Amino acid sequence: MSEIHIPELSLVVLIGISGSGKSTFAERAFGPFEAVSSDHCRGLVSGDTTDQAATADAFDLLYYLVGKRLDRGLLTVVDATNVTRQARAGLVRLARDHDVLPAAIVLDVGTEVAVARNAARRDRSFGAGVVRRKAADLRQSIRRLKKEGFRSVHVLHGVEEIQDATIVRDR
Ligand code: ATP
Ligand code: MG
Repeated sequence: MSEIHIPELSLVVLIGISGSGKSTFAERAFGPFEAVSSDHCRGLVSGDTTDQAATADAFDLLYYLVGKRLDRGLLTVVDATNVTRQARAGLVRLARDHDVLPAAIVLDVGTEVAVARNAARRDRSFGAGVVRRKAADLRQSIRRLKKEGFRSVHVLHGVEEIQDATIVRDR
């Protein structure tokens, strides 16, 4: 079993392609209100968790919610793909603005696992091509995460490592 140590007050940024298991991991490893999901925010602003046209409003809401929680001294997890440098840069800045340490947890499940899982989901309709391109983006970015400002970077490789990982909060 591998332990992921994070500061008690962190902004935890999950990073992984669609189908990598971010929402499943967040539900298992964190408390019921600790994870803020971009899909949930899409649903709140548009009525449809998959409405890509609602992305800008959904992220406005996500940033607002995360900011409120950090101001209250609450550890917060961002459940969004965060595979692009721009997406992560905004979150690193948000953490800094609230004097909180940003921690990255990468769920590197393997592209084919993610593609197969998404094919079986009724709530996802991306083509395999989109997921494969994002997987390539992600592979490029893993070694840059420290430079981007993440205080800690944890990369979980494969289904088993993701399932076995436990979170330890350091005071
Ligand atoms: P998205 O970015 O599209 O929201 P996600 O990274 O949040 O995807 P999940 O929704 O957690 O991914 O998982 C995708 C699918 O894979 C779900 O149907 C989920 O039940 C399944 N899944 C997740 N983890 C596992 C696992 N360890 N074993 C088997 N199935 C899993
Ligand atoms: Mg999800």
